[in-house]
Amino acid sequence: MTDAAALRRRTQDLLAAHPPATTDRTDFLKARFDAGLAWVHYPEGLGGLGAPRTLQAVVDAELEAAGAPDNDPRRIGIGLGMAAPTILGFGTDEQKRRFLRPLWVGEEVWCQLFSEPGAGSDLAALGTRAVRDGESWAVDGQKVWTSSAHVARWGILIARTDPDVPKHRGITYFICDMTDPGVEVRPLRQITGEAEFNEVFLSGVRIPDTRRLGAVGDGWKVAQTTLMNERVSIGGMRIPARAA
Ligand SMILES: Cc1cc2nc3c(=O)[nH]c(=O)nc-3n(C[C@H](O)[C@H](O)[C@H](O)COP(=O)(O)OP(=O)(O)OC[C@H]3O[C@@H](n4cnc5c(N)ncnc54)[C@H](O)[C@@H]3O)c2cc1C
Repeated sequence: MTDAAALRRRTQDLLAAHPPATTDRTDFLKARFDAGLAWVHYPEGLGGLGAPRTLQAVVDAELEAAGAPDNDPRRIGIGLGMAAPTILGFGTDEQKRRFLRPLWVGEEVWCQLFSEPGAGSDLAALGTRAVRDGESWAVDGQKVWTSSAHVARWGILIARTDPDVPKHRGITYFICDMTDPGVEVRPLRQITGEAEFNEVFLSGVRIPDTRRLGAVGDGWKVAQTTLMNERVSIGGMRIPARAA
């Protein structure tokens, strides 16, 4: 059983094996993930121990007292708060293994490709199209207000895959590689001089079907998981801005 005392011992073992003062920051974070002390309520093998979420505070307090580095959660808030729970809920085992560790460690930043010029509050009206072509999808459209797109490696993306059914039913959820050809990120400069948001233009972007999250046509349901988690996480988030 994983109780507070067991978690304290496990955390002290991590600190003994990887002293923060002499361990590279990223190596320490990887070791923490592999010890199941990243997010203790996640499953074993995916950075957790299947423990009650409330016990995370025990681990965090031990690590803070020892001067251990954190994963700079404000920098990777969209990944931690929105992409990760969606991948956990709907991803294949392969997707969970591929994406969750670099997401938590902070090696890969995530952004959210939901809002469009004609689909804000009425998100299900989105017009970005994804058309199946063999083992991949061809994606065309425009997103807006995309926080962190300029530093992101991956984007959680919803697109219309069936225009002939009621709007909430014709949407599918994908993981978009922001470095792929056809992805163009343009900054939206604010009056402060900073550019925290972007427009993202998608032109013939090829997304392999292995990067679909959930079933075809189930994107609205999958997106609800993202949005429910967004409501919880967004309060504490700070987005890195481009220099003025
Ligand atoms: C700080 C910040 C960060 C963001 N980051 C991202 C991001 O990373 N990725 C992303 O996809 N999106 C992002 N967004 C976009 C955001 O989540 C919303 O989708 C978007 O702001 C709402 O769309 P809109 O701006 O077109 O407003 P609209 O939908 O046009 O709404 C404008 C106003 O009209 C009101 N309104 C709309 N419909 C109705 C109605 N039927 N009845 C009465 N009133 C109505 C709204 O309440 C609002 O006051 C971000 C927004 C903010 C503020």
